[in-house]
Amino acid sequence: MIPFSPPRIDKAITDAVVEALNSGWITTGPKTKEFERQITAYCGHKNTLCLNSATAGLELILRWFGVKEGDEVILPAYTYCATANVVEHCGATPVLVDVNDDFNISIREVERAITEKTKVIMPVDFAGFPCDFDELNALVNRADIKQKFKANSPEQEKLGRILILSDAAHSFGASYKGEKTGRLTDVSVFSFHAVKNLTTAEGGAIALNLPEPFDNKAIYDYLCVFSLHGQNKDALAKMQKGNWKYDVIDAGYKCNMTDIAAAIGLIELNRYDKDTLVKRKQIFENYNKVFNSKTWAKLPEYLNADKISSFHLYPLRIKGISEVQRDQIIQKIFDQDVAVNVHFIPIPLLSYYKNKGYKMEDYPQAYNNYSTEITLPVFYNLTEQQQEQVIKAVINAVESVI
Ligand SMILES: *Cc1c(COP(=O)(O)O)cnc(C)c1O
Repeated sequence: MIPFSPPRIDKAITDAVVEALNSGWITTGPKTKEFERQITAYCGHKNTLCLNSATAGLELILRWFGVKEGDEVILPAYTYCATANVVEHCGATPVLVDVNDDFNISIREVERAITEKTKVIMPVDFAGFPCDFDELNALVNRADIKQKFKANSPEQEKLGRILILSDAAHSFGASYKGEKTGRLTDVSVFSFHAVKNLTTAEGGAIALNLPEPFDNKAIYDYLCVFSLHGQNKDALAKMQKGNWKYDVIDAGYKCNMTDIAAAIGLIELNRYDKDTLVKRKQIFENYNKVFNSKTWAKLPEYLNADKISSFHLYPLRIKGISEVQRDQIIQKIFDQDVAVNVHFIPIPLLSYYKNKGYKMEDYPQAYNNYSTEITLPVFYNLTEQQQEQVIKAVINAVESVI
């Protein structure tokens, strides 16, 4: 069976983990701080806070910005549930909007969805392909849109407009007009979950890039405390001789990254551009070369004049098929010992959200993308021979169903 996306666990990783375990420091400490420093240098934003997941990062930022009951947060109908769940956690209302043919949030639909209650927009760089950030940043800075904005927290006062919180769970290392994700808008959040491009087993990071007059370092310091019970000294600081006394300044969360995870991340980051992304791009190109000759195939967009993907997912679409046919094709691919996936089941189709009244009919492009989509395996150790097997399985399956 060809798996969908196993992590790359080799000697470099296991050595780093063993070294971390034996170092005498296994929770948040020097390795996490070094990983944060290197992420900041790699992406070029202002400050990085590493956490145990992207989900925690998204929620911390919503909380920091003061998002609460009565507020609205705009996000695409086509994303993983985490993007919507964190809005629910804050008691605010997720306002879903439709996506483009490229799977990313439609800026036109975002504009139509903005009300006086809108506090945050959460675009998602689907499959690692950056959203239209110039249009999005320009939209929230437009005079009439700013005028609608009703600040009701000190941070909201300070920003004076809607915050853009980019769910960059897929797009670490992707770029838009020569700038990497992390630098493209106010705040971006990366995921280092086991199936993501760069993994720490579980993990995530907040990339702070807030404009003047925000002090990103001060926000980083606050979020460090907020992600560790609101305790004003972390375990490392308390280790200093006689430095045992601490205070709790907030009913904080507990979602810090461990140094064991950061040790994995440091290895992964070091080989990311020169190895990981090179390999992923080759696989994309190989798939494209073959499927390009099939009239039924709709290839994913991953490169254009402005955007370079992080090659996270290869979402192939089969033109004109129904959802039932798509499911039949997937079964036939699995029958040939190839694991594929669907990214994602749109939010309105999930019971929790369906029961809240969200309707799939309101997001026709999202449904069209979903019902014709099959995500193919892309991972570092996928050999050329295995790629051939994937391609053959897909062609057999599609051509026996359509
Ligand atoms: C994986 C994913 C997340 C959540 O990441 P975690 O690190 O598992 O919390 C959020 N959004 C999207 C689009 C994802 O794919």
